[in-house]
Amino acid sequence: MTTRVVSFADGGEEMKELLGGKGAGLAGMTKAGFPVPPGFTITTDACREYYAEDRVLSGELWKDTNNEIAALEASTKKTFGGVENPLLVSVRSGAAVSMPGMMDTILNLGLNDATVEGLAELTGDPTFAWESYRRFVQMFGEIVFDVPSDRLSQITERAKQDGALDATAYAALVRRLKDVVAGYAKASIPDDPRDQLRLAVGAVFESWGNRRAIDYRRMNDISDDLFTAVTVQSMVFGNSGESSGTGVAFTRNPMTGEPVLYGEFLENAQGEDVVAGLRTPEPIAALEQVMPEVFAQLSEITLRLEAHYRDMQDVEFTVERGNLYMLQTRSGKRTGRAAIRIAVDMVNEELLTKAEGVQSVSPGRVEELLHPVVVRQPDTEIIASGLPASPGGAAGVVVFDPDEAVELAAAGMAVVLVRNETSPDDFHGMVAAEAIVTARGGVTSHAAVVARGMGKCCVVGCAGLRVDYAEQLFHSNGVTISKGEWITVDGNTGEVLAGQVPTVEPELDDYYETLMSWTDEFKTMGIRANADNPTDAAAARRLGAEGIGLCRTEHMFFEAERIEAMREMIMAPNAIARADALAKLEPVQTADFVGMFEVMDGYPVTIRLLDPPLHEFLPRRDETVNHIADLKLRIASAKKLSKIDKLLNEIQEREFVLAQIERLSESNPMLGHRGCRLGITYPEITEMQVRAIFNAAVQCAERGIVVKPEVMIPLVAFSSEFLAQEEIVRTVAEEVFAQAGLSVEYQVGTMIELPRAALTAGEIAGSAEFFSFGTNDLTQSTAGLSRDDASRFLPGYVRRGLIERDPFQSVDIEGVGSLIEIGTERGRAVNPGLKVGVCGEHGGDPRSIDFFHKTGLDYVSCSAYRVPVARLASAHAALASPI
Ligand code: PEP
Ligand code: MG
Repeated sequence: MTTRVVSFADGGEEMKELLGGKGAGLAGMTKAGFPVPPGFTITTDACREYYAEDRVLSGELWKDTNNEIAALEASTKKTFGGVENPLLVSVRSGAAVSMPGMMDTILNLGLNDATVEGLAELTGDPTFAWESYRRFVQMFGEIVFDVPSDRLSQITERAKQDGALDATAYAALVRRLKDVVAGYAKASIPDDPRDQLRLAVGAVFESWGNRRAIDYRRMNDISDDLFTAVTVQSMVFGNSGESSGTGVAFTRNPMTGEPVLYGEFLENAQGEDVVAGLRTPEPIAALEQVMPEVFAQLSEITLRLEAHYRDMQDVEFTVERGNLYMLQTRSGKRTGRAAIRIAVDMVNEELLTKAEGVQSVSPGRVEELLHPVVVRQPDTEIIASGLPASPGGAAGVVVFDPDEAVELAAAGMAVVLVRNETSPDDFHGMVAAEAIVTARGGVTSHAAVVARGMGKCCVVGCAGLRVDYAEQLFHSNGVTISKGEWITVDGNTGEVLAGQVPTVEPELDDYYETLMSWTDEFKTMGIRANADNPTDAAAARRLGAEGIGLCRTEHMFFEAERIEAMREMIMAPNAIARADALAKLEPVQTADFVGMFEVMDGYPVTIRLLDPPLHEFLPRRDETVNHIADLKLRIASAKKLSKIDKLLNEIQEREFVLAQIERLSESNPMLGHRGCRLGITYPEITEMQVRAIFNAAVQCAERGIVVKPEVMIPLVAFSSEFLAQEEIVRTVAEEVFAQAGLSVEYQVGTMIELPRAALTAGEIAGSAEFFSFGTNDLTQSTAGLSRDDASRFLPGYVRRGLIERDPFQSVDIEGVGSLIEIGTERGRAVNPGLKVGVCGEHGGDPRSIDFFHKTGLDYVSCSAYRVPVARLASAHAALASPI
């Protein structure tokens, strides 16, 4: 049987799926005896039914709703639509997962031309009554009839320009707003509160399907099937005079995690004033000044709430004539840094167990601690100061329009979105921007909450900053900055700086170290890093990597001079020329490996033999052709013979290069002469690399460094390829050891990057000592998706829901995952001691890590800065599925 409506008194906090977070929180607080205005929740099941039944509200739902309204009338002794003592309600959305500001709210529902008089009479404050009515009309117009919000707010702002309005002026304003709504919607706002409620509930249901809500769900991996609940709650008024007000508070500081009440309070105001950022509120301490008793009561309630939910809470409250009411409680959004401190503190306070503390921090959040901080220069100019809403530091060019932010970011530009305030309609622009700056609003405004949720640097409430959208510039403290100019945002201090100021990685604090040390108590997989130079390897060690899982040796040749030697080797027309080039490369490689072994003293270092898809290393054909044409032009205008000779020589060299480019050009280089295929054709390349590895290893071993080289053969399809390369590795190793009079332990293994390798893993494991799944290539070769081209259309697949996520970011469990399971199983069946890991990008993706853990892999390897994420994700995986 479908449960469509549940009163707060009958619900409970465990019913989140059915009642949404808000409904469940209110029911929980009601049951626990906190002061909550009475109300009821229309369930997510009712919303699901609405969407299933052609988006109409069912008769049953309406019957149940009316019963609850009657109960509400009885408990409040007020009448819905009654003139003497009118019942007014708020109607708010609330899904099981918090989606702040993404959906809609209507306040003061129940007001009409008659009940407003009743409210005026009852409160003795006609101005307040009409202002409440004005607010209702405006919200209803926007949400139910889709009137663009600026249209109505501009009318109100204009009316208020010349000072406070009295009741008569508000009444005129209400009439004007109603006319505009009716003109736009070709329908009037109904007078009957029940009709108002019916339309409002439908509109909240509809808001589940609006663009910003869908975007938010995509970005946060929230299922479309959850649907939203609607809470209907009797109104209390924070705007009923001086002993009233409204606020939002976090039980701990959501920026730093410090255990103090943190939030904002606005006297004589309704909640929407705070959330919309239209008026800048006071810090919560202001409440202590003006209403010390209420502040004490709030402090006590929030402590109890936190202990009850065992998590930091974000509460909304209203004070109506000195009486405190709780309107919402939910787990508070927080920065990654705060999440870590709160977890560690709560474990120390014995509110959480160590395992729960670890589980309370989602792995992606740790990355934020690694975010850059701004390094000011002596001439750094501060152009604006506001509130530090979300930490980090980022520079970018100024844009004012969210669509433009998306466009420029897609073109590879770093952008900073600057707005007077943001609304949920700007969400896509905020996603695209490196940082967000707003002129108005507080630390709980839309911009602040959303940016913090995304871990994006954000400064809000910059006094003195004004955006002129028409002119595409902003003024701030006497400075004018136009679209396209660079600024830098310091989310740690709340300042906006002129130009592109450098940034550096931040220090990791003790809370971070403590949490990370706990992850190591739970995780069972090893975490290694993909690093190609000693600097990255050292960073990886600092961040807790337990070895190198992938050193891409071709990356060691990216630098300018080295790439020339590499190209020479690739393009060598014969064995002699190749030997020359290899002789140049060998000492360079040896020195590189020494550097890696030094940093990784005592830890394994997996070195992959050369795997250059040739097109990545050859000069570009079109550029070479243009260069030759240019040289020819210069000959035509050259006067001196010596100059002509020089140019002719250069042309000859370029033409040689062009001939090699053409000789080596492949229709599909990703499936071409790369990986071990190169070493099979040119064994001397493998020999050179292996000599460099083992010479470096013995040199280090002689100095007392503990080296654990693991030589990895790339892109194997046939076990015979592996055997042929393995033989070279072992032969050269023995030669080097004999020469040095010293040997070191080492392993030879392979990457599994092709479906054939996974399927014939048993044969390969006959001699390989380890497997490392190269899930980048394995995804490419399994799905037949080009790594280089898929980004042109895959995002569209995700948007259309054809696939849930990009398989290059998060492993395709059904397809690629099956091959990983098969490869592991078949490999271990032959060689039970086979070590199996992953070194594709998926090694740093929490969802993929969970799968790798369940598959029983020994380790994952990912880029250095994702190592902490992988450590935490691996601990989560182990806690969720112990093996
Ligand atoms: C892979 O294919 O997953 C891999 C790690 O190798 P690369 O990305 O260098 O091709
Ligand atoms: Mg690969």
